[in-house]
Amino acid sequence: MSADHVNIMHSPSSPISSLSDAIERCQALGMRLSRQRRYILELLWDVQEHLSAREIYDQLNQRDKKIGHTSVYQNLEALFDQGIIECVERSDGRLYGHLNSSHSHVNCLDTQKIIDIDVELPKTLIQDVEQRTGLKITDYRIDFFGTAD
Ligand SMILES: [Zn+2]
Repeated sequence: MSADHVNIMHSPSSPISSLSDAIERCQALGMRLSRQRRYILELLWDVQEHLSAREIYDQLNQRDKKIGHTSVYQNLEALFDQGIIECVERSDGRLYGHLNSSHSHVNCLDTQKIIDIDVELPKTLIQDVEQRTGLKITDYRIDFFGTAD
């Protein structure tokens, strides 16, 4: 079904498991940790959903975390470029999530919500893919699609 959204991939960075981990990673990478950048990371780890830049802007301002539009966009791109957060490209724009590691998605066709899930494929299936393509599989992500009932 829909090929209209894809994860934009970067070379894999080691998994980040918490907000403080994410903050440490920024520091280790020499990224400046502005108040705004912290707000964005806090929100993404708090809600654990995939949000557009617009939604992030709205939610932060509703929480009295003052941040400008441009700052939201720039910080999201910087965080994604450094492998700190996830970015999903949809036909209606980009969504950002708190997980930086490889994971699969369950897409609800009714609500457009994306649920993060870890799925491990059976080894025999991976071997079958490798045999058919001649490639050594090092990573995979699955997109599931479903309805609310
Ligand atoms: Zn995700």
